[in-house]
Amino acid sequence: MEKTAKNPFRPYLWLLFIVLVIFWVIQTLKANSVNYTYGQLINDVAAGNIAEAQITPDASGDSGYVVVMGKGGLTKRLYVTDVSEAEEMLRNGGLDPVIKDKSVMNWVVNILIPIILLAFVMVFLLSAILGPAGNQGSGNRMLNFGKIRVNIINGDGKTTFADVAGLKEEKEELAEIVDFLKDPGKYAALGARIPKGILLEGAPGTGKTLLAKAIAGEARVPFLSISGSDFVEMFVGVGASRVRDLFEEANKHKPCIVFIDEIDAVARRRGTGLGGGHDEREQTLNQLLVEMDGFTENSGIIVMAATNRVDILDPAILRPGRFDRKVTVQRPDVAGREEILKVHARNKKLSEDVDLEKIARTTAGFTGADLENLMNEAAIGAARKNSPFISMSQINDAFIRIGIGSEKKSRIISDKEKKITAYHETGHAILFHVLPDVGPVYTVSIIPTGVGAAGYTMPLPERDEMFLTKSKMLQDIMVSLGGRIAEEIIFGEITTGASADIKSATKEARRMVTRYGMSDNIGVVCYDDDDDEVFIGRDLAHAKSHSEEVASEIDREVRAIIDDCYAKAKEIILNNEGVLHKCAELLLEKEKIGREEFEALFTAT
Ligand code: ADP
Ligand code: ZN
Repeated sequence: MEKTAKNPFRPYLWLLFIVLVIFWVIQTLKANSVNYTYGQLINDVAAGNIAEAQITPDASGDSGYVVVMGKGGLTKRLYVTDVSEAEEMLRNGGLDPVIKDKSVMNWVVNILIPIILLAFVMVFLLSAILGPAGNQGSGNRMLNFGKIRVNIINGDGKTTFADVAGLKEEKEELAEIVDFLKDPGKYAALGARIPKGILLEGAPGTGKTLLAKAIAGEARVPFLSISGSDFVEMFVGVGASRVRDLFEEANKHKPCIVFIDEIDAVARRRGTGLGGGHDEREQTLNQLLVEMDGFTENSGIIVMAATNRVDILDPAILRPGRFDRKVTVQRPDVAGREEILKVHARNKKLSEDVDLEKIARTTAGFTGADLENLMNEAAIGAARKNSPFISMSQINDAFIRIGIGSEKKSRIISDKEKKITAYHETGHAILFHVLPDVGPVYTVSIIPTGVGAAGYTMPLPERDEMFLTKSKMLQDIMVSLGGRIAEEIIFGEITTGASADIKSATKEARRMVTRYGMSDNIGVVCYDDDDDEVFIGRDLAHAKSHSEEVASEIDREVRAIIDDCYAKAKEIILNNEGVLHKCAELLLEKEKIGREEFEALFTAT
């Protein structure tokens, strides 16, 4: 069941407010009603139409209201200047009017209620303008109108790991969190430390929210979710107070999962950006850090946050005791995509000709959300045509529609492009593997990353090295050139896909020559004393410290380094041409291969 958590005071206060307004309006309208005359009253009394009567004198006691209830149930009301005369008239008509004390009512309607309503409006405006700054003390809770919208799913176990297709490694990594939430005491007893915060990193739609929800579902604990952008408000202090509210709420529901989507909205690196206006965000971030530091380990609250931009996050949130565990949620490979399609085909009627594996093959780069969207669009297409099943042609139509709709994300990749990418990445990977000071290869992938790269080859996380050696730098250059070399060997033509590689190779070679004195012809002279390349217009500001002659000498040296690296790298790749083909074929089949599979290719023959 989904519900929205609120301060218990709040709905009650709003209700009171509305009731008061209605009451006041009715009373005020009544007081002014003049559609019943004294003459009519006399007639009604004489005709015996009145069942009951009430008299409410004013404070003075002379004038006042007469309220009569007709036999048909109608209530009428009128103002009389002489209440005793009216009373006598009613008694003569055989009625026994109830005399009410009007003065209290009068006071309530005309003075007390308007004051209360005015106070409401004032408090509302003040809290909007100043933010609920005086909110720390629980006594001021009722003043807080701008409350947070936390979405809570109670531990219903509806979403489980079974709903999360693919993401096997991610699920394995998070299994212990499920176990912990089921029985926090077990871990505490053994003195084991469970992370308080887990950062899920990955492109939008890769299933981060789904994964977090599934953890809560597996452990059958409540799932509290909120988006980082909900914290960001115009009014200073509101964000921080919302963070406090969120954790207060979490405390009530523990053990539980707190999920903060788009954490980057709050936790962007502090002190960046232009001018003021960051106070609010910084305060919010600080409050988040305070809250996370505040609850003890194993308290039963696990905070999960999602982002697709770890690089812009404030490093403070990644410190131990905060979000010290990072799980990268990858775009699915072929097998993963097929599994996801199966999950989303579960409740759909597919015709015989639908081949989910084939769809998986043609949707490289699609995220789980894209695939879900694809199946949904196909279902809509089928319904529109009144067909009882979803056919392959409807899926193809949906594919084209989605592809056109969101260009980059779901860019349709041709087989030729895929093949080029497979050979390109293999070229890098072979050099990583063969050269001694780089690598080893951790993953090779031809799944588009969504940020322009058609694939990637990742070495194991770098060792901490203080110095770069000349030979390591040369090897780095060779690795960079490997993609382009493989393309040249296989296809005999050159694509634009290697431009980033060429740029980084050139930069590295130039640094060797101008900064590290690694070229014999130039000598041990620094021609490049810039520490960083952060300044735009650096070349303008930076007076040239060397002559034209030296400049062309530098260019020649850079060129010589690149050419030399190119030749050596090409030789290595040619020596491993068997691996080049096998690896590229494997990549085309699986899209992503890990270290073991890759290294096995070298020993196979
Ligand atoms: P994110 O939080 O990473 O942006 P979501 O978890 O909100 O992505 O995913 C959006 C939708 O995409 C999910 O509700 C689900 O329908 C679908 N989806 C994404 N990843 C998967 C997956 N691995 N298995 C099944 N469905 C998925
Ligand atoms: Zn490359």
